[in-house]
Amino acid sequence: MHVYFLGTGAGVPAKQRNVQSIALTLYQERGSFWLFDCGEATQHQVLSAPLKLSKWEKLFVTHLHGDHIFGIPGMLSSRSMQSESKPLTIYGPPGIDDFVKTALKISQTHLTYPIDIVEVEPGLAFYDGYLRVTAARLDHAVESFGYRIEEMPKTGALRVDLLKAAGVPKGPLYGQLKRGETVTLPDGRLIQPDSVMDPPVPGRVVTILGDTRPCPAAVTLAAKANLLVHEATFADSEQELAQKYGHSTSTQAARIAREAGVKQLVLTHISSRYQGQSTAQLLEEARVVFQNTELAEDFFEVEVPS
Ligand SMILES: [Zn+2]
Ligand SMILES: [Zn+2]
Repeated sequence: MHVYFLGTGAGVPAKQRNVQSIALTLYQERGSFWLFDCGEATQHQVLSAPLKLSKWEKLFVTHLHGDHIFGIPGMLSSRSMQSESKPLTIYGPPGIDDFVKTALKISQTHLTYPIDIVEVEPGLAFYDGYLRVTAARLDHAVESFGYRIEEMPKTGALRVDLLKAAGVPKGPLYGQLKRGETVTLPDGRLIQPDSVMDPPVPGRVVTILGDTRPCPAAVTLAAKANLLVHEATFADSEQELAQKYGHSTSTQAARIAREAGVKQLVLTHISSRYQGQSTAQLLEEARVVFQNTELAEDFFEVEVPS
C-alpha cells in the first residue's frame, strides 16, 4: 500500500507541480490502484509514473473545483482507447454524475467499459470486508469531502506449537480454526480459535482530505491514521488568505496531524507562489508542530507505514 503523488499544486498548474491527483496503490491487496482527484493533465502525469490505466479501479473526488476534476474525461477516454473492459467506479459530491456524463455525451465519447457513479453522503462510501472507505464533509468554499481508507484487521497466524500442545490433529480442523470456528476434538474437548492463534493484525489507515480549512471532521477522519495527506496551500504568515479562500497553512495541517495522533503527515496542494527555499519553509514550519512530516513533490511516493 503506497501513496503516489501525480499532482501536488494548488489551483493552477506550475512548471514543477501539476494540479491535484493522488494514487493509492493496492497491488498486493487488489491488483489495482485508486485515484483521489484528477486535475487537468493527470493522464500526462500517469505517462511518467509507474501506473497503468488498465489497473485503475476507482476514482474518489473530494470536490468539484476544476483543479480536482478537469482531468477526468481525458483519463476515462484514454482508459477506453486501450479497449479496457473492467468496470470503474467514481465517487464524489453531488454534481459529479452530471459533470462526467455531460462531458462524455457532448464529446460523443463511448467507453469500452461500464462506469458506476456514486454521489457520496457523509458516512460509509465503500466496504467489501477487506477495505472500508468513510467520507465526511470538510470546510471549504464548496462542499468538499475527506476520505478515510481502512484495512480491516487480518486474522492472526495459526500457532503450530499451541495446536500440538492442545492435541489438535493435523487436517481439516486447522482450516476450521483458521476460519474462526470453534472445533470439537475426538475426545470431546472444545478448542477456541483465539487460544491457538496469534492476535489479529491491525489494518492500516490512510486519510486523504480535500481542500479545507482546519476543522473537527479532519481530526475525526484522521484519528490514529498511519498516514494523513493534508493540503497546505499557504505558509503560516498567510493565515488570513487561507481562512478567506477555505484553505490551510502547513502549520495548521501539522496541528491536525498532532491532534489526530497520526503516524505520518504528507503535505500537498502547495500554492505556486512557493518554490525552492520557500517550499522548504512550509515544511520546516510544519515540522515544528509535527516532526514526522513530508512535503510532496510530483512523482513523490510514500509507503503507508504500519
Ligand atoms: Zn484545490
Ligand atoms: Zn478547492
